Formats: sequence, structure tokens, C-alpha cells
Amino acid sequence: MTNYEVPVKKNDIVDVMIEDLTHDGAGVAKINGYALFIPKALPGEKVKVKIVKVKKGFGFGRVLETLEESPDRVDAPCPIYNQCGGCQLQHLSYEAQLRFKQKQVKDVLERIGQLPDVLVHPTLGMDDPWRYRNKAQVPVGEIEGGLVAGFYQERSHRIIDMDQCLIQHEKNDYVVTTVKEIAKKYGVRGYDEEKHRGTLRHVVARYGKQTGDIMVVLITRGPELANKKNIIEDIQQEIPNVKSIVQNINPKRTNVIFGEKTHVLWGDEYIYDTIGDIRFAISARSFYQVNPDQTKVLYDKALEYAQLSGGETVIDAYCGIGTISLFLAQGAKHVYGVEIVPEAITDAKRNAKLNGFDNVDFAVGEAENVMPWWYAQGIRADVIVVDPPRKGCDDKLLETIIAMKPERVVYVSCNPATLARDLRVLEDGGYRTTEVQPVDMFPWTTHVESVTLLTL
Ligand code: SAH
Repeated sequence: MTNYEVPVKKNDIVDVMIEDLTHDGAGVAKINGYALFIPKALPGEKVKVKIVKVKKGFGFGRVLETLEESPDRVDAPCPIYNQCGGCQLQHLSYEAQLRFKQKQVKDVLERIGQLPDVLVHPTLGMDDPWRYRNKAQVPVGEIEGGLVAGFYQERSHRIIDMDQCLIQHEKNDYVVTTVKEIAKKYGVRGYDEEKHRGTLRHVVARYGKQTGDIMVVLITRGPELANKKNIIEDIQQEIPNVKSIVQNINPKRTNVIFGEKTHVLWGDEYIYDTIGDIRFAISARSFYQVNPDQTKVLYDKALEYAQLSGGETVIDAYCGIGTISLFLAQGAKHVYGVEIVPEAITDAKRNAKLNGFDNVDFAVGEAENVMPWWYAQGIRADVIVVDPPRKGCDDKLLETIIAMKPERVVYVSCNPATLARDLRVLEDGGYRTTEVQPVDMFPWTTHVESVTLLTL
């Protein structure tokens, strides 16, 4: 730890140059090695800041004036960008965002993974990076007795009424505003978080971009929903492609959106969507990637890295509803998928059937326990694909990969820091990180998704 005096005090006003961006999109300036984090400032900018917080190793500043502007700065098109917090990079041009995401991966591989020389390709971005989300989850409340639905103001639980979100598919915006109007018409009460009263907590809209199918989920505090029949009829009337209207009941005082009980109010339990040639049934609570166009790009890359010729045994760990597993099953002899959520495995099995695959097996459990068990049964994989949550892979799972010795490991990651940590373990276990391809799944946000190929 460097031993220097903290060069600033709270409320000081200083001019600084921004050198970098943090993983959450804040500008970084250095004063004699002391790091200052400055929200919304961009690399290359000279800014006058007020110091708002001082800690031993780093501090925070707020921009008072931008003295020199970055050529990458753009006006955020969303009118509520500064209040919402859902996007973090709307003030940065899309091209620069893609470069930022590539650099994030590079930097973290070097710093955490001690992998300075790995080939990190330029981020694969979208031609049109707006309106990409296929799922909207919108909180509902009341302000002065009127029902509102929109978003939580950044760092609070105050709901701001809103009718459109620029990263949301137009269909979902339409569904949410329409359901909001219908709820108002029939006097449905919005949920009051503090008093734990009222009825409607969230409206969730899901859209199958390839099929046009729409699902509406009404999340209510209790089982009762007054005027249910009229509400259902109006939704059918006003939303032409609705295939499924579902109620989910969440009686708890919690920030978690969904409750345990779900039942169909009208139509099917599922909507359908396709990725490439494969069809997926999606239920109200299934995990399904939210950017369908880029999901195809991501999975195609994973498939390319898997280099399947038809004879391979493949393991897909953290398989969700079996999306990647079925993609792989098109070119492999056999695919084993493992996932911790039982409902997801039920969906995965249904999806395998729906598409006529008989070369896949799915298991429920923790990948770090199921994989060693498979290994003990004599199962060996030629290719292992992992797509873990943000915290990355469990050590036991990495050890099993190293013991099983597949020719290739394809690592799909939503968190470069844990990716870098895990790559180091695999490198020490005999693998070489061949290349990394960042894919922009979440334009205008700081989320960085990537696919990595490792070879034995
Ligand atoms: N590959 C899928 C899902 C990836 S998300 C897709 O692309 O759609 C990561 C998944 O890992 C989630 O479905 C989550 O439920 C699952 N998961 C989390 N911890 C796990 C564990 N220890 N073992 C197995 N699966 C786990």
C-alpha cells in the first residue's frame, strides 16, 4: 500500500484530467497517485470538480464544469437518464462504449488473471443498439391516490411514472402502458411498499421477437384481483398478439419481484421464441436472455469456439433452460446440461422435446457437485461450456474440468473480474487462453459479456 498524504479535503474544488473509466462507468482522475472517482466524466476530459467524499485510498468528486470535452461525449437521448440509473453510459458514443468494454476485459485479464498477452477481439456490437430488451419488469405504485408505473428513482424506492424506455422493445412499452390504463380504468390499487397495502406490484411484459408472441404477467400482493374478468377481456382487446396472461402472487414484504404462486388467467402458460433454428418455450419465471439479437451472436460464437464435428460429448454447465445446450446439440454426439433451478430444467427438457433432440440429458443440481459425480460415473467431455452467474465458477467445478481434461473449454461470462480469476486457475491447470470475444448484450449499460476459448 502506497503511503502518501491524501491530497484533497472534502469540499475542495480542483481541476483534473480524466484518465480512465471504472467498471461501473465513473471517470477516474489521479492526483499524485490518489484516485478520484467522478460520475459521468469521460476519459480525455478536463473537469472542475468538487470533492464530495474523501477516504484513505480514494475519493469521490462531482463535476461542476467540463473544461475540455471528450470527442466521445454525446447527449443522452433519454429524458430521464439522470434520474433512472438503469443505463450508465448514454453520455458515451456507442463506438466508444464498445472500445470501453473491450478494454475492461483486457485490463482485468492482465490485472487479475496475469494474462497480459491474450487476444481480446473488438466488442461485437449492435447495428441499432436501441429497443433491444424483450422483457420489461415495471414497478407499480400510487402517488396521491393515482396509479403509477415506471421506474425507481436512482438509489430510492420512489416510483416515477413513465411510458417509455429507450432500451425496451416498443411492444413492451405498449403492453405496460396499456395494462396501466386498464388497471386505472377498473380502479386497481397500486402497491404501497411502506404500508404493504394495495394490489398491483409489478407488470411484467415478455415478447418473443421472432414469433411476435406476448405474455403479460400481473404480480399482485394477494390472490384477489377485482374486476378480473373485465381486465382480462380488455387486455385481449387492446393487445392483439397476447398469447398468455398470467397472475403471480407475491404476499411478502420484499424487493424480490416474483412470488411463489403463478397461475394462468387466460391463454397459454408459455410463449415461444426462436434463436437460430431452435424454438424455446418461455414461462413467466424462466430465465431467458433479454437481448435476443445479441444472444444469437453470443451463442454462435460459443458454438464456433466449441469446434464440433459431430462426435463430441459436451457438458453445458449453468445451462438455464438449455439454450446453449440445444445449440451445441445440433453439432455434437451428446450434450449434458446442469442447472441449479429445477423449473429451468423442466423447461430445458421440454425445449429438447419441442425441437426433437434425443441426444441431451439434463440434471438439476449445483454444477460443482454434479460434475464430479458425472466424472465418477466415467463421463468424459471433449468440450465443456460454462456460463456461470456473476460470481463465476466454484473451485470444485474448475478442479473437475482440469481432471476431466476436455480438449476445449468455452467460458461465457457476464463478469470479466471472475472470468479473469477463473482463467488463472485453468491456466495453472494446463489450459491456454486462446482468445476472448466480448459481445455487447446490454448497450448503454456497463455490463460486459464475453466468450473465451481455452485449449488444453
Ligand atoms: N446458459 C444459460 C443461463 C446462464 S445464467 C443461458 O444462456 O440462458 C446462469 C445460470 O446459472 C442461471 O440459470 C442460474 O440459475 C444457474 N446457476 C447458478 N448457480 C449455479 C450452480 N451452482 N450450479 C448450477 N447452476 C447454477
